[in-house]
Parts: sequence; structure tokens; C-alpha cells
Amino acid sequence: MSLKRAGLVIAAVVLMISGSAGAQLITNAEFIALGNINQMGAAEYNARNDYDYRFVNGASDISDGSDFDAFRDALGTWVDLPDSDLYASEITKNVAFTPGSKNGYNDIAWIGSGYGYTNSWADLLGFSSSAVACVVTWYAPHSGAVKERDMYFNDINYDWHTETDGDQSEGFHVGHIALHELGHIFGLVDVYNPGQSGWQAWMGTGNEHLTMYGISGPGNEDMTLTAIDIAAMALLHPAATVPEPKAAIMFMMAGGILFAVRKPQ
Ligand SMILES: [Zn+2]
Repeated sequence: MSLKRAGLVIAAVVLMISGSAGAQLITNAEFIALGNINQMGAAEYNARNDYDYRFVNGASDISDGSDFDAFRDALGTWVDLPDSDLYASEITKNVAFTPGSKNGYNDIAWIGSGYGYTNSWADLLGFSSSAVACVVTWYAPHSGAVKERDMYFNDINYDWHTETDGDQSEGFHVGHIALHELGHIFGLVDVYNPGQSGWQAWMGTGNEHLTMYGISGPGNEDMTLTAIDIAAMALLHPAATVPEPKAAIMFMMAGGILFAVRKPQ
């Protein structure tokens, strides 16, 4: 299909490293009210429940392939949720990749110095060096149709590890960060606590335990979704609304036909 590149809009969600903003004391833990969980679905585009992705490269600290496996484990955690209809397939395709540019494939890459960002990855789409990882979503502004979702891990400013490789004493756990970023892939937004940039009243307080909390720190290896994350995804992509079997959707995708699911209002 043809695509009017100039007409597309980029939405970037960035996971920030915990600093002064993330260290605030939360004394009143009320979480997100049940009636507001549906607001965790992205408002500016129609979230997709399908995801065909390819790895461009892994983390520079990891050579045993466990970075890719950790990503797949995190993806499985989302896809296996019984109350959500989520689909994913890994593809292998040799296509040119430029960080921050659209190429028609959902790329996953650790952005290291090899890409020419010598100072920090702040050169990439203007991200701060305190950005740990991000998902960049390209979508058509009028239809809200999502065209591409790239996931970038900051391999310039941070170290990465899994259970079997990388420096265990510092840096970020691939699976933990991937779990959060994959929430964005399927259309969930970041949530914050009061006083933090991006906080909105519907988010309430005490969200630091959520997978979709937008700030993370090194050493956190939590790979579990909270009930709120699970409920938010089920509201966005409820299990009963997609009757087609997985094989049919993958065939449609293989044919180059976009499959978009409109977010329930
Ligand atoms: Zn995020």
C-alpha cells in the first residue's frame, strides 16, 4: 500500500530513568480508579492488537541471544492474557534501518554508538539521555491508523543485562523494560504520580508499581503485570471482539493489508 509519509504523525513514549522525579514519597496510595482504567488506552490513534516485529540488533553487553529471548518472554506475558486478544509474530527481513525513520517494519534495536550518536542518544528524535527506552509510533492523523511502531533501547547511556548475560550488578533488565515498552506497542500510555511531568488527574496516585509507570530504575527485574495493566489492556483489546483466528490475521498481514482495531470508546 502507498503511504503519505509527510502526512504521518509520530508519537513517542519514553521510559525515563528514575531520578529526583521518581524518588518522591507517595503517602496516599489510591491508584487509578476503576472507572478511569480505560483512559490508559492511547487517545491520539487507534491502538492495534497485532504486532509483527523484527530484531535489528541486540544489546552490546549481551551476546548469548538472551536479550531477544527476554523480549520474547515479555511479549508472551502480554499475548497470553486470557481477557485480551493480542497477536504477534517475529519476522526476519533484511531491510535498511535508520533510527527514528520509518521503513515499513516494526523494528527493535538497541541504539549504540555504532549508529553515529556519539554523545548520547539525545541526537535521536531529541530524546533526553535519561530516556531508557522508547516506542515510536507513526500514525495517520485523520484516520488514526497506526502504520509502524519501532522500539529503541538506549545502548549509549545504559548497560543491559538478562539472567544469563550482561553485567548483573548494574544496568537495566531487558525483560522488565521490554514488558513496559510492549504495553505501548499495543496502545497503552504511560502513567505517573502527582508532581511528575505527564501526570493527569485520572491517574490518581501510587502508580509506581504499575508496569506502565513511566519511570524505571536499574536493577528492577519485575516481570509481572499488575491487575490494572491487565484490565487496561483487556478494555483496549477485549477478547471477544476479534473473531478471526490468528492464522487469518497473519495471512492478511503477509498480504500487506493493514489490520487495525478501533479502540472501544
Ligand atoms: Zn513508557
